[in-house]
Amino acid sequence: MRYISTRGTIQPIRFKDAVMMGLATDGGLLLPETIPAIDRDTLAAWKTLPFQELAFRIISRYADDIPADDLRSLIERSYATFDHPDVTPVVERGGLHILELFHGPTLAFKDVALQFLGNLFEYLLQERNERMNIVGATSGDTGSAAIYGVRGKENINIFILHPHGKTSPVQALQMTTVLDPNVHNIAVRGTFDDCQNIVKSLFNDLPFKERYALGAVNSINWARVLAQVVYYFLSYFRVAKTIGDEVVFSVPTGNFGDIFAGYVAKRMGLPIARLLLATNENNILARFINDGDYSLSAVVPTVSPSMDIQLASNFERYVYYLFGEDPARVREAFATLPARGRIVFSDAEMEHVRTEFLACSVNQQETVDTIASFNRETGYLLDPHTAVGVRAARQLVTDGTPVICLATAHPAKFADAVVRAVGFEPPRPPSLMGIEDLPSRCEVLDARIEQIRTFIEEKAR
Ligand SMILES: *Cc1c(COP(=O)(O)O)cnc(C)c1O
Repeated sequence: MRYISTRGTIQPIRFKDAVMMGLATDGGLLLPETIPAIDRDTLAAWKTLPFQELAFRIISRYADDIPADDLRSLIERSYATFDHPDVTPVVERGGLHILELFHGPTLAFKDVALQFLGNLFEYLLQERNERMNIVGATSGDTGSAAIYGVRGKENINIFILHPHGKTSPVQALQMTTVLDPNVHNIAVRGTFDDCQNIVKSLFNDLPFKERYALGAVNSINWARVLAQVVYYFLSYFRVAKTIGDEVVFSVPTGNFGDIFAGYVAKRMGLPIARLLLATNENNILARFINDGDYSLSAVVPTVSPSMDIQLASNFERYVYYLFGEDPARVREAFATLPARGRIVFSDAEMEHVRTEFLACSVNQQETVDTIASFNRETGYLLDPHTAVGVRAARQLVTDGTPVICLATAHPAKFADAVVRAVGFEPPRPPSLMGIEDLPSRCEVLDARIEQIRTFIEEKAR
């Protein structure tokens, strides 16, 4: 399997090199040259596989340059840190299927990808006898999940930028209380988009990127998308009565990474009727799908902070397919986006989009109301991100198609919103007990690339 860039100006590379490259060196995103098709017989044969074996069957089709035994061992180790035997179990509540993606060490779905990516980086670096400096931006959950993915690893330093004071208190503590010497937290005085733009600029500075062997962990890394494809298959098998039955996935969306994994699963042949893209008030993607309006506006802080994003970095991957795999058009659209503030799509393209996606924007009051009503009805506690997806599903899917709602975080991670909704604190899982009392370490810096580059240079030595 070879990988190409959405902007079309790199030579095709193998999986291992695609993982190490992160963002494509031409500024685009890496994608497999072809997406393998999984036929009905194979789906039927996969139906009862446990998570780890299913992960191996899927990932090995994309990572065919890693020996099977090594890949199996990477997968085993990555999911041994989860506290549920199914890794990503599905529960039925209130007529919906809730796919619980929060059983990893930092209690959010990003662990599914980042436990794997951390081990994969370690493996590839050992093989090459190299070191790496991971630099990433987070609106909260990516940072802690990435840190837990690589903490204590000998050949990796990690630098995580988060918007100062704009993550939930628990999210910040989950990052800053990790004191391993290879972990560096940077609180940036600015927004998540500022953090993300700084990280993108650092990666686009090719001499710097090369000199410090920068590696990416944000959802631009193909290996992350790939690991997330697995639970779409797993949950489909748990929910579909007969292989071939269609389901809807409701996906609380920020950077378009998680839902893009669902799109890959759909292209592989998983019977997905529609992907429901659920956003909070930062609804550029919902506006795109419903009105064909992809125009940037300012970021609004909400009770679902991991979705407080305007410029969704993975969206370019989808646009590549929407534009008929024409990299020249992708290049033009994204090169002119910062100046124009919008991308224009044709009516035919928008019609096509609506055959694949539904979309709904859920405001904060509706989010809090949904946490409350769902708890009243079912006794189950939703985190505010999951609540956005549940609300969207109830609003838009009324034809009886089974809906799988991705539960992207544990409610205890976002206790403020939950308390507002139900009037009591969500019970804390063991990993959060007493986290406020632990020692912590963090550097606060302005949203200026020079300052941040200097900090990285000093620590990376
Ligand atoms: C990251 C995150 C999301 C958004 O996922 P994307 O891949 O960025 O679209 C939703 N919910 C939670 C809890 C998250 O951490």
